[in-house]
Amino acid sequence: MTSPSLHGRRAARPTRSRRRLARGARPALGVLAMAAAGGMMLATSLPALAVTATSEEPTASVYAPVVDEISAKPQRLEVDESVTAAPVAVDEYTAIAAPPPIASSVAGLGVVELVRTGAIVWPVINPSRISDGFGPRANPCAGCSATHDGVDFLPGVGTPVMTIADGVVVKATENGGGLGVNVEVQHNIDGELITSSYAHLQYGSMTVSVGDQVAAGQQLGRVGTTGQSTGPHLHLEMFGTDGVRFDGMAWLHERLG
Ligand SMILES: [Zn+2]
Repeated sequence: MTSPSLHGRRAARPTRSRRRLARGARPALGVLAMAAAGGMMLATSLPALAVTATSEEPTASVYAPVVDEISAKPQRLEVDESVTAAPVAVDEYTAIAAPPPIASSVAGLGVVELVRTGAIVWPVINPSRISDGFGPRANPCAGCSATHDGVDFLPGVGTPVMTIADGVVVKATENGGGLGVNVEVQHNIDGELITSSYAHLQYGSMTVSVGDQVAAGQQLGRVGTTGQSTGPHLHLEMFGTDGVRFDGMAWLHERLG
């Protein structure tokens, strides 16, 4: 019964005890198959086999060949050469530092991070109707500035005034001095902090408040003639972080054609 060749002769001599052995051997062969397939059960399976053999058959040594066979085949992890040979291509990408966020300080509301945008729209319909461009000019009225800080659009009284880009409202007042009813919006235009200011709006026409997030084209108010104004028009001023006004009409034409 201890012969290593028992398995080979089992089928040829089907005695009762042999059949029982054969039944008992099936799990062992199954485990062997799993182990041969690269299974990880070798260590945990062997004690179970020993217990089974002892409890069911006093001649537990019949499993000895199985044990020997398994232990003779140490488990190995076969790894293809190509896997380890492939180098990590660390030089095929470039780390680009994220630009600092553009933030707007809103009075009483703290700092608001501005969503970057490149989408620009005209502040009024019929934007080609202007009365006064940016720059030096003859004083239109007593106390009016000799240098025009903005562009005057003439779309008609009561015409909706819209923000030229996404942004946050940083000023919304009906007491803007010479600017009259005045709304200011700050934008992150392609990574640059730009402010647009809309003046001389009608009293009671403002549809936004300080701190409001606005989308390009969203209405802010209506064209009026409040403040230092000689007639209904939209006075649009634009400036960067230095506060120096630049030609909003040229800037808009550059982006809108
Ligand atoms: Zn003006």
